[in-house]
Amino acid sequence: MKLPGQGRRRAGKDAPRDTEVPTATTDDPGEPDEATTPDETDGPAATAGPDKADKTDAVGSADADETGEPGEAAEPEEAAEPEEAAGTGKAAAVDATGDRDARAGKNRRRGSSSGGGGMFRNRVRRFLQRPGTADLSRYTKLLPQIAAAEDRLKELTDEELADAAGDAVEDSELCAIGREAARRALGERPFDVQLVGSMAMLSGQIAEMATGEGKTLSGAIAAAGYALAGRSVHVVAVNDYLAKRDAEWMRPVYDRLGVSVAWINQSSTPAERREAYAADVTYAAVSEIGFDVLRDRLALNPDDMVTQEPDVALVDEADSVLIDEARVPLVLAGSAVEGDVDVKIAEIVRELDAETDYEIDEDARNVHLTETGARTVEEALDGIDLYTEEHLPTLTKVNVALHAHALLERDVDYIITGEKVRLVSESRGRVAWLQRLPDGLHAAVEAKEGLNATDTGEILDSITIESLIRRYPTVCGMTGTALAVGEQLREFYGVEVAAIEPNVPCVRDDEEDHLYTTLDAKEQAIVEEVRQTHESGRPVLIGTLDIAESERLAARLDEEGLPCVVLNAKNDAEEAAIIAEAGSRGAITVSTQMAGRGTDIKLGGSGGDRQEIADLGGLQVIGTGRHESSRLDDQLRGRAGRQGDPGSSVFFASMEDDLITSYAPDEGAPDDADEDGLITDPGMHWVLGHAQRVAEGVNLEIHRNTWRYNKLTEEQRRTVLDYRDKVLRTDVALETLGEHCPERLAELRETVGDDVLAEAARQITLYHLDRGWAEHIADVADVREGIHLRALGRGLDPLDEFHKEAVRSFNNLLKQAQERSDETFKTVEITEDGVDLGSAGLKRPSATWTYLVQDNPFGTDLDRAVRSVGRLLGRPRSG
Ligand code: ADP
Ligand code: MG
Repeated sequence: MKLPGQGRRRAGKDAPRDTEVPTATTDDPGEPDEATTPDETDGPAATAGPDKADKTDAVGSADADETGEPGEAAEPEEAAEPEEAAGTGKAAAVDATGDRDARAGKNRRRGSSSGGGGMFRNRVRRFLQRPGTADLSRYTKLLPQIAAAEDRLKELTDEELADAAGDAVEDSELCAIGREAARRALGERPFDVQLVGSMAMLSGQIAEMATGEGKTLSGAIAAAGYALAGRSVHVVAVNDYLAKRDAEWMRPVYDRLGVSVAWINQSSTPAERREAYAADVTYAAVSEIGFDVLRDRLALNPDDMVTQEPDVALVDEADSVLIDEARVPLVLAGSAVEGDVDVKIAEIVRELDAETDYEIDEDARNVHLTETGARTVEEALDGIDLYTEEHLPTLTKVNVALHAHALLERDVDYIITGEKVRLVSESRGRVAWLQRLPDGLHAAVEAKEGLNATDTGEILDSITIESLIRRYPTVCGMTGTALAVGEQLREFYGVEVAAIEPNVPCVRDDEEDHLYTTLDAKEQAIVEEVRQTHESGRPVLIGTLDIAESERLAARLDEEGLPCVVLNAKNDAEEAAIIAEAGSRGAITVSTQMAGRGTDIKLGGSGGDRQEIADLGGLQVIGTGRHESSRLDDQLRGRAGRQGDPGSSVFFASMEDDLITSYAPDEGAPDDADEDGLITDPGMHWVLGHAQRVAEGVNLEIHRNTWRYNKLTEEQRRTVLDYRDKVLRTDVALETLGEHCPERLAELRETVGDDVLAEAARQITLYHLDRGWAEHIADVADVREGIHLRALGRGLDPLDEFHKEAVRSFNNLLKQAQERSDETFKTVEITEDGVDLGSAGLKRPSATWTYLVQDNPFGTDLDRAVRSVGRLLGRPRSG
């Protein structure tokens, strides 16, 4: 291995990027821009018609294929076509590792270990391997080389080591140097498996490594590798606390590699953010990055922007971010306008009869008025006809209020603190401080709870986490649980999973589920289990499904003289400190999913005796119910048995759990339960696993659907943004306005200089563009909400109809923005001091704020349809 060789010196951050640097271009078959590109010269252009947009079956069966989906290139059948692959140079174009990875490879400045020849071999091998996993041999074969460099690297001074890092070309060199840097900086010598993880990430893959394997360090070495190759890296952290912790923890390693690192938190100022984004490696929660992108999108001056072109995203807990939270919209809202709360409608809805006036779907996710209910509401509203076009807004309000009334449960879906509704996010099981329900629904919950409406704002823009991440030309990451969603990661992001064995084999004892007839019997059994384990001195971690359950169980444990600590909605730093002690002798910790995430549970706690606890049998993890996804179960189990520690895990479940009642509802209680309610019938265990698989399938379909609908909006966003950027950075606004209003231009030129005029034209155009976009996304949301019913009523395809309407609205937006700009240009006063849009009633939002919506709990007609299909499939077989 050559060390101070002729490797490419790393390009400085500000150095112009050479042509290899990826930009969002049209060469990606999966990217939305395939269908439309903004007109280069003439300002806003009409976008693609619906004929270009894909038309898929609305309800979208699992195998409905979409043209242009990123996963398409990676179908196994294709991998099995030797002729196509070997014959032409096409192998590279249809790289079986997925387009994202192919690009990562293409864009890598560092020499890639797999040449074109290996590609075909890999494809075949992968085909024989478990689907969705990468071949690790191309990494493991480099390990001896890495080990061989170790002694030599130890001799280098710190300065020489940093120089060697700057010169490193091959991943193997980089890993050897990274190992030495970590040894010096942290006193931890990265294990082979950690370096294999780094190499997988450097190849644009998701490294699956169990909890406690040291992914933080593994990821840092990969991030440094990208940075040393001149790339700009965002390490996407789970939350603010971990962004800061990990960046500071890894800083000494980066320092020794000559790589700059920074982090962003919610409280970071714009100047701090700009500086942080300028570092080689930036750690931040996905929401913070998204909010910055959204805010930049409204900048009136290029200097106000804080973000840069997205380049590499290295995502921690990748499956949560890329799959579980993919559909979560990040929202930028502005201008407090009077809330549209309808207290009256809330009251009407409250009086409705649950038996006759409305029906709740079996999966408790949707509710709708019955005919009787509709009549009751219509009478209460002075006899209007709810189902006419004219009263559509009222019908929407009624539906929203009904949803809040019948489906959203206090202390499960939200809690009330300090007169405010705070959402509880399902998958995180924690209060989401920044989150709001979609506007109408939030107000409806406030009305239901008799609270004063908080300010609602107009949504200025929003972007889903999926769309945000897809902006990055290279996506890679790490998590303990990726394999189960390997196919989805490929489908939605074109990334592959590299499943890496633990450093020390896992010896955790995962017990079979304990299944009970009733909730009460289950909780009684949990308490007994805790008592038994606790008496032995072993620490117990109880993972619950929601906050209400945590509280209930904690109270019950307390009553039984089993004092516990509850982790729910506290702040992340506090939770981290508490969970760090969860492995202490006799500790009982009750925690919702993800609370205290990313923090090690060391046996014996921070100061205690590891061996003592290990001898007792290590940590016991108790799950109070299976989650909607087996990955979440596995994440909980993974809390025990880290790095070869002893430990055990067991889940308790009951036939009354939501999972069963929602997804396997027709399965009654079996006959053969013992006097404690414990079910021994093995068929029932099958039902439990089956319900979970149905839930997973339903969630996948909803994800697919959301993406089908979002795709077009993303194309449109890009079109508008490209044009907006041009307005911001050039004089195109004045040119266009001058063309449209030559007389006005001539008149203004008599008194006002060209620079001032150009700036005024710019501000006018930006104002109307941004307004138009806000109106457009509101329109699109409305269209999407109602399209299913309307389209079905006329025998049309909803997705098609949606596309037609969205394209119409978009074309209208561009046209209207230009007309409004022309009008303003003609009438507004422009002097040497510039233009005062405020005095013309064209005020920008006085304040903006951001929030994220965990999901759209209201769902859409389409989601509903998909769920009912899921339920049909979900009919369990008997016994
Ligand atoms: P993960 O994110 O994979 O769950 P972390 O990155 O939080 O794991 O690391 C878990 C623990 O392992 C940390 O305390 C870290 O200091 C330790 N660790 C990581 N790598 C090594 C190593 N090579 N040698 C010793 N300890 C390590
Ligand atoms: Mg971690």
